[in-house]
Amino acid sequence: MSDIISIAIDGPSGAGKSSLARRCAAAFGILYADTGAIYRTVGLAAVRAGIDRKDENAVAGLLPTLQIEMKYGSDGEQRMYLNGEDVSEAIRMPEISIAASDVSALPIVRQFLLEMQRSLARTQSVLMDGRDIGTVVLPDADLKVFLTASAEERARRRVLQLQEKGVIEDYDQVLKEIRYRDEQDMNRETAPLKRAEDAVLLDTTELSYDESFAALSQLILERFCIRPLAD
Ligand code: C5P
Repeated sequence: MSDIISIAIDGPSGAGKSSLARRCAAAFGILYADTGAIYRTVGLAAVRAGIDRKDENAVAGLLPTLQIEMKYGSDGEQRMYLNGEDVSEAIRMPEISIAASDVSALPIVRQFLLEMQRSLARTQSVLMDGRDIGTVVLPDADLKVFLTASAEERARRRVLQLQEKGVIEDYDQVLKEIRYRDEQDMNRETAPLKRAEDAVLLDTTELSYDESFAALSQLILERFCIRPLAD
């Protein structure tokens, strides 16, 4: 195995992928790449342009006008730029989640973003999370994990997370949105969300956040024989 390692973490919305992946990457001193943020940036651009996000021709016309950059701040946090503007916060709005899921179903969008994701893993060790990292973006990843939890548990966690930010959301509405995205992400023709054959399944429905982190860290430790720098 070369010195550069790649870890692919895929799974449905709200399974805790991003926060667990970010924490694990920091603990092991590996770059963390949140690929959902890239799709969200395209989703935001489509919303701002007022186009039909499911219309492949309309979105295809938009793509050449977009300059999407992913940069890392001095705090190590990934930030997204759309035509020079820092949109890292704007892409987190709930309506952008749906827009991201809509545009991500279009093959032209997936093709447009593929090289950007692959190039990240060529020169450095990376822990990348998304929906098709183990199946399409990094099929040769050294470790693949499919991280999931029941839709109900994911909705419950999302409601609590929003509550902590002072945002009150209805559980049934959140569950409906999670199901909408699951359905769309799993059933699209191009790069649907599915577990790669060689991915380790990690179901966190019954696990706390710390237990999930310990389980993911253990997989990394076993595969690469590296210890966390810090927790
Ligand atoms: O991970 P996150 O929820 O931020 O992703 C937003 C949306 O982007 C997902 O619902 C999914 O449709 C899409 N996505 C994707 N492929 C990826 C990452 C995200 O299709 N690798």
